[in-house]
Amino acid sequence: MAIFSESKLSTYENCPYQYKLKYIEKVEAEIPTTIEAFLGDLVHKTMEKLYKDLQYQKLTSKKELLSFFNTLWEKEYSDDILIVKTEYQPENYRKMGEKFISDYYDKYYPFDEITVIGIETQDTLLLPDGNYWAIRIDKLGFDKDNNYYVCDYKTTGSFMDQQLADADRQLAMYSIWVRDRFRDAKKILLKWHLLAFNKEIISERTDQQLSALQQQVMAKIKEIQQATQNNEFPTRVSKFCDYCLYQKICPSFSHLVELQSKPMHEYKEDDGLKLAEEYLSVIKSLKEFEKRKEKLENALVEFAKQKGIDTVYANTGSVSIKEVEKIKLPENKEQLIKLLKEKGLYEEFYQLNYSRLNSFYFQKKLPIEIESLLKVEKGFSLRAKKRGLQEEE
Ligand code: SF4
Repeated sequence: MAIFSESKLSTYENCPYQYKLKYIEKVEAEIPTTIEAFLGDLVHKTMEKLYKDLQYQKLTSKKELLSFFNTLWEKEYSDDILIVKTEYQPENYRKMGEKFISDYYDKYYPFDEITVIGIETQDTLLLPDGNYWAIRIDKLGFDKDNNYYVCDYKTTGSFMDQQLADADRQLAMYSIWVRDRFRDAKKILLKWHLLAFNKEIISERTDQQLSALQQQVMAKIKEIQQATQNNEFPTRVSKFCDYCLYQKICPSFSHLVELQSKPMHEYKEDDGLKLAEEYLSVIKSLKEFEKRKEKLENALVEFAKQKGIDTVYANTGSVSIKEVEKIKLPENKEQLIKLLKEKGLYEEFYQLNYSRLNSFYFQKKLPIEIESLLKVEKGFSLRAKKRGLQEEE
């Protein structure tokens, strides 16, 4: 049985391939960390010092605390830390850290709103499936009414609203551990210190919600274990890739990284680059041809209608025109896609292949719910034939 954690699960959900590199192969990335993670780590260490000192009856001054943060920054910062938002300098991030600490200090001084019993706790929760869940709470404490607080410092610039807080998995899982450990707890409150906004947000869960959450977590763990058995860890390209430390060895990005490191003359001669350029230009031409074909079809239909004929002749062949019924896809395709996915048919239609859908519709092979989303309209089918003015069929 293994130890799982919020960061393991969210890494897997964001990108299974990154999960494999980080947690299975334990690949050491060339880039040490991102500036956001570096800042977050240092702010956490500074908060840890503040509360550790308090345990020893030492109320560290704001000046001392900021100096602790800045000394850490100087000691640990290195130029190979990844900065994605290149319009900002490391200095901007350092100042952000100073502001977070300073605002927090002013807001909570003298830090006695709760009795702190745990800082950066390290423990595990035994799950009913035999696996363990890592418990690492930034700050744990209780107030005079025996309400327990599971606190987390957030240094990200994205605001967490109540809906997000109520859906958060990390602190909710921690609260199961608190509930089992501290039987005197009247309430267990999940609290996020949104340091970038000098604000806090609180959420609470019912026992029912927690047992449902535990089931979801175990189902996700099972999925990961299955993927591990089958060695199935596909890449998942998303906005998170910008912050991924493994781009250099990721199949979805390594060619790009390689190209970026080549001198211009080698860059231009890269076989992959040439092939991809050619392929993209073929795709572009095909699309242009498709548009031209559609225009010509409309013009031919008009011509045939005016003349009252069903075949139009050319030197090299002919075009026959037949009136047919065909399906019309709904304007908002989301419901159709959702239904196809639910019925396990999405792949069958190659992610919404029109002609296959059309033929299944008329062969009455579609589930009724999907059929009812599609309308039928009159249209024309054009067929090119070899037989024309100058060629024999
Ligand atoms: S770069 Fe993106 S796709 Fe590749 S491993 Fe990282 S997160 Fe996954």
